[in-house]
Amino acid sequence: MTQRFPHSNSPTPQHFPVVVVGAGPAGLTVGNILRAAGVDCLVLETGTREFIERRPRAGVLEEWAVRGLERRGLAGRLLDRAERHTACEFRFAGERYRLSYQELTGSHHWVYPQHLLVTDLVREYADVRGGRIRFGVRDVRLHDLDGDRPSVSYVCPRSGRREVVACDFVAGCDGARGVTRSSVAPGRARVARHDYGIGWLALLAEAPASADCVLFGCHPDGFAGQMPRSPEVTRYYLQCPPGDDPDSWSHERVWTELRRRLAAAGAAPPVEGRLIEKRVLDMHDYVTEPMVFGRLFLAGDAAHLIAPIAAKGMNLALHDAFLLGDSLVALLTRDDDSGLAGYSRECLRRVWDYQEFSQWLSELYHGAATGDPFRSGTTLARLHRLFTSPTAAAAFAEQYLGTAARH
Ligand SMILES: Cc1cc2nc3c(=O)[nH]c(=O)nc-3n(C[C@H](O)[C@H](O)[C@H](O)COP(=O)(O)OP(=O)(O)OC[C@H]3O[C@@H](n4cnc5c(N)ncnc54)[C@H](O)[C@@H]3O)c2cc1C
Repeated sequence: MTQRFPHSNSPTPQHFPVVVVGAGPAGLTVGNILRAAGVDCLVLETGTREFIERRPRAGVLEEWAVRGLERRGLAGRLLDRAERHTACEFRFAGERYRLSYQELTGSHHWVYPQHLLVTDLVREYADVRGGRIRFGVRDVRLHDLDGDRPSVSYVCPRSGRREVVACDFVAGCDGARGVTRSSVAPGRARVARHDYGIGWLALLAEAPASADCVLFGCHPDGFAGQMPRSPEVTRYYLQCPPGDDPDSWSHERVWTELRRRLAAAGAAPPVEGRLIEKRVLDMHDYVTEPMVFGRLFLAGDAAHLIAPIAAKGMNLALHDAFLLGDSLVALLTRDDDSGLAGYSRECLRRVWDYQEFSQWLSELYHGAATGDPFRSGTTLARLHRLFTSPTAAAAFAEQYLGTAARH
């Protein structure tokens, strides 16, 4: 919960117009937008710079998100290095079905590992735009969010002392396990939750992908996915029980299941390689409404979590960050508060749209493995429809690419 202005070890607290909590894609994008407009801000991050620049996670970026980064001078390296994806492939009932979404929407995905984007954003913020950032901070707390003089305090990793930073606004960009969302008094936020009751074993393999696009294997024994990340590294997912022990998945078991669940007539099997990441994700979602509490503005996973079913989380984090960064600049440089006033509503429209699509897609991935013959039948019908009805394929492509004109 938000606390009264704390006792500080520093005689006069520093002041920044904006304190950004969390240096993930959302926080660093907000920080970069502020710095480009000459607005001073401080980013607080619990991890070290080396840690956040190496943490592998997402990789699929929607075209509008990359254009948004490009417009703000943040996509230089990404556009040089990212791979363009124009199609995906479903595998079910022993066959392969390719869906060329670029032909349907004129749009494509960019594949660029999240830690490379974070590396680019930190470099631009701290080394090029002169933004201030403190790594390795501990015990971050928010204070007086309902007044016009909020502050943020943290324990400095070097001195061990609690430092206090006064500010006008706090951007809560500290992800799903951060502190900003929990600083909101109980009863003020409505948190809507959804649990799929499914786990995914998330894997990174040191091996090239066996196809030039994302593969979705919809198999009666469980979903399997293959997502190229770079020429040397590929992400895989295997459906498993929630809370499953990753150590129960030996190298042999992983590759046997991947080969089985992704098998299709005429398709090359996955290329086996050393597994460099192996962890179980319990698939669940939440949405916090509203996303604004006094002077605190939540963005990205701090406000809403979306299971990686449709690869939407980082895209939503960037969407929030563009709106929040631009709206803070409008207020702080032009006294225009219209963006901040509509921030929560505008973000949540896209958030709910993407949540609904993820839920729909989840049934496509997992329905065949429920053991329920009725759901297996309807899942198969839904899959076939994507490849027999151009209208159904176009609707899928629009949602998968996030190209709807309005949400
Ligand atoms: C395996 C996996 C695959 C995924 N694949 C995709 C994909 O392909 N496409 C996609 O769009 N999304 C994907 N996602 C989701 C995506 O990674 C997240 O949605 C994205 O990281 C959200 O960005 P963020 O900036 O909101 O939060 P984060 O990236 O979580 O950043 C929050 C930052 O805050 C820091 N922090 C935490 N607590 C504090 C604190 N108390 N004080 C200060 N700092 C703190 C954290 O260290 C972190 O650096 C995937 C996620 C996973 C786990």
